[in-house]
Amino acid sequence: MAVFNTPLHAFQGLPPKKLALLKKDCGMETFGDLLNWFPFRYVDRTRFYTVKDITEDLPLVQLIGRLENIRLIGTGKGKERMSAIFRDQTGTLELVWFQGIKFVQDKLRTGVDVIVFGKPTQFNHSWNIAHPEVELYSAEKAARAPRLQPVYNSSEAMKRAWLDSRGQSLLIQQLLQRIGNQIEETLPEQIIQQHQMIPLRQAYQFIHQPINADELRAAETRLKFDELFFLQLRLLRQNRINKLQLKGFAFGTIGTVFNDFYHNHLPFQLTNAQKRVLKEIRSDVAKPIQMNRLVQGDVGSGKTIVAFMSMLMAIDNGFQACLMAPTEILAQQHFAGLSELAEKIGVKIRLLTGSTKKKDRNILHAELESGELHIIVGTHALLEDKVIFKNLGFVVIDEQHRFGVAQRARLWAKNVLPPHVLIMTATPIPRTLAMTLYGDLDISVIDELPPGRKAIVTKHQFDKDRPAVFNFIKEQITLGRQIYVVYPLIEESEQLDYKNLMDGYEHLQAWFPSPQYQLSILHGGLKSADKEFEMQRFIKKQTQIMVATTVIEVGVNVPNASVMIIESAERFGLSQLHQLRGRVGRGADQSYCLLMTGFKLSREANIRLETMVRTNDGFEIAEVDLQLRGPGDLQGTQQSGDLDLNIADISKDNQLLAYCRQFASAILDTDPDLELPEHALLKQQLLNMEKRKMDWGRIS
Ligand code: ADP
Ligand code: MG
Repeated sequence: MAVFNTPLHAFQGLPPKKLALLKKDCGMETFGDLLNWFPFRYVDRTRFYTVKDITEDLPLVQLIGRLENIRLIGTGKGKERMSAIFRDQTGTLELVWFQGIKFVQDKLRTGVDVIVFGKPTQFNHSWNIAHPEVELYSAEKAARAPRLQPVYNSSEAMKRAWLDSRGQSLLIQQLLQRIGNQIEETLPEQIIQQHQMIPLRQAYQFIHQPINADELRAAETRLKFDELFFLQLRLLRQNRINKLQLKGFAFGTIGTVFNDFYHNHLPFQLTNAQKRVLKEIRSDVAKPIQMNRLVQGDVGSGKTIVAFMSMLMAIDNGFQACLMAPTEILAQQHFAGLSELAEKIGVKIRLLTGSTKKKDRNILHAELESGELHIIVGTHALLEDKVIFKNLGFVVIDEQHRFGVAQRARLWAKNVLPPHVLIMTATPIPRTLAMTLYGDLDISVIDELPPGRKAIVTKHQFDKDRPAVFNFIKEQITLGRQIYVVYPLIEESEQLDYKNLMDGYEHLQAWFPSPQYQLSILHGGLKSADKEFEMQRFIKKQTQIMVATTVIEVGVNVPNASVMIIESAERFGLSQLHQLRGRVGRGADQSYCLLMTGFKLSREANIRLETMVRTNDGFEIAEVDLQLRGPGDLQGTQQSGDLDLNIADISKDNQLLAYCRQFASAILDTDPDLELPEHALLKQQLLNMEKRKMDWGRIS
């Protein structure tokens, strides 16, 4: 929209200093930026109270009356205060100022009529309001008085430069007065009518200056609809275009390798969910279109075997496959597990990580290029240009949230047509969020755990219970089990965390002395070879307790480990707690997760702990997480500009989101290229969005 793209310096009457601040502190460049800077809350000033109405539980009140007896009380620095008596027909109260006294002295006069706004408190049987907002009363003000007062964010520097909430509000009002009628409509009249929405122009007026709650609601609905509808329209359209354009390899047959494995070597019966997802993948790869599919499945739901069998489909059709994991430990584990399976059916598989020796690397490169090697498992090292395949047809990415889109694209480039891509994630996210976050992916869900799993028993324990916890560990070790003890590792306080880890390690050593007990320790500061060494000792049961930071969070599989102790559990997010808990409960034994905290916990921390104790269901946990934190902090969302929503909130507006998606989808069904005249506006809007995205691409 032309007017929205006008640079802010064209706003006459905006002094250069303010202009610079808006740019520096709020990133504002254009009229659009300023108008899309929405209030983050509103103060209800629709109602006027009288002094006699005031009660203890009113947070803020607004009154009309007259000022009397304005005077300075007390002497000496810091003891002075300004006082005024406020009177209306029903009584009086005292207004006091401890700061900004000079300002009050200059501005207020005994005998003037004012509108006063603030929080009343009771003192000596009478009411007073400290630091009230005071406006001179005028008939004009009273006429448009009933309103919701917008509150905008402002930095300290902005406050000093008269760009506090009120200053911003005035500025935005000025701008709206000047250019409000140039705001163009983005939706066809018919859609606006159908949903009984207000025009966009009006929505901008109402969001910044609502007279009442109805206006505010109408504005919010309209602006959220715009945001979510166009987001979905863009994603869905992109998805359709991708499907038309992304040519891929069609795997025509299910061949001998797959069938041999399926009939003769499958180590267990697949769950129904695993079978269903395999079918979905099978139907994708049979088409000459690149597959981009995300498999969501809770920890332990058995994603690996699904990935492996999908890779066999590629091998049966003369293609190679690769699996990329986010960490070296994970890559090694995948390799160890898959080699066992591959061996049985004569499939050749190798591992490539940062620490693969040069000599082995050379052999491996040669085998990949000749096509002798069927599957390669590895880390980022797979992305290097030196890694050349004879015929890569299938790519599996584990825990993709650690990989950016650009990295994925480098794998695509390794064949003349892009290989099929299967992404696995153990971080379940609610469906509404997945639809948006992974708008370009198709989604499969493994919503069933293999049979016979015992639910993990989770308990919240206080630090003072530690002796009992240690005795419990001893019992479990006597039973032959292994234990994880995990400490937080948060970048801002890395040193402190390291100290906590080491203190805890020493404490454990005192309780579990060698040679009877052996402890492993694993943290981010160790060299990769040392990490591997410690991990192997634990896997081989040479040590009983693994003391670690969250480096063990993802994917590590030691079925004999049955107790997960999480120290300072209140410092972990829900999805992280769930991931960590997923490290146990992988064998036949009853497993336990103990969440250790002090007594002092925030409300949110309590909800997180209660949720963990209540349920093992990753999707339920993800819902709570989304409610608690909003989508911004969920894993994986940081990479997605699509969730930079201005007014809609995916954790609260999920119904509207689902509706918008459906509505957008229906439009594309009837008019895929938006060529009908009634959709011209939509098409124009999409083009504008794409253009804006490209501009961003150039900047960043
Ligand atoms: P995740 O989905 O967390 O990656 P894995 O693929 O590592 O889970 O599987 C967890 C464990 O469950 C592995 O030991 C695997 O062999 C086992 N498993 C997977 N599918 C089944 C099944 N259908 N029946 C029994 N065990 C299974
Ligand atoms: Mg896994």
